[in-house]
Amino acid sequence: MLIVFIGPPGAGKGTQAERLLKHLGIPHLSTGALLREARSKDSPLGKAAAEYTDKGRLVPDGVVIKMVEEELNKPAYRRGCLFDGFPRTLDQARALDELLARQGSAVDLVLELRADEAVLVARMLKRAIEQNRTDDNQATIAERMAVYRNQTSPLLRYYGEQGKLASIDALGSPDEVFGQIRTQVDECRQQNSAPAP
Ligand code: AMP
Repeated sequence: MLIVFIGPPGAGKGTQAERLLKHLGIPHLSTGALLREARSKDSPLGKAAAEYTDKGRLVPDGVVIKMVEEELNKPAYRRGCLFDGFPRTLDQARALDELLARQGSAVDLVLELRADEAVLVARMLKRAIEQNRTDDNQATIAERMAVYRNQTSPLLRYYGEQGKLASIDALGSPDEVFGQIRTQVDECRQQNSAPAP
């Protein structure tokens, strides 16, 4: 099963992704985590990406798409995965569709975590202090929010037109949010396993 998680920064994608991964038993493909790993290894990719991540900007599409393509070739992803933080632009979404089509597969479900921007900014500042994440300070938070609004939110329409989008209210308790996610995922699983009419 291939699931895409979309949501503004601070909407709790990471927390909910962890729970969903346990529920489904599929691997996690988080481009943010892959970029942080590359950075911690001081690889050329990590160094190049840091210039963007430090400013809250998106790493260029070509770099991210190549990274995802290499990752998806690993046998671990044969049964699907949960995309977290990818795609983040229309070009990434189109590239993902093409990449999957070449493998004879497609995105099954897109989960949008939806929430008010002001509430999320407050959450992110708290998380930045707790986790000491260098890409989370007040200026980059504002930049990341603007990037989401301008570059990522058009994906909602793209996947909506494909009939794959499920919007979830992200401001409930973690249990409530996960309950909504599980309902959508289980419905999608049932549809996928139902015999063709
Ligand atoms: P995340 O952990 O998903 O919030 O990602 C942290 C940072 O990594 C983002 O603010 C971007 O700078 C970069 N990044 C992660 N995923 C992508 C992506 N799909 N496209 C471009 N940049 C990305």
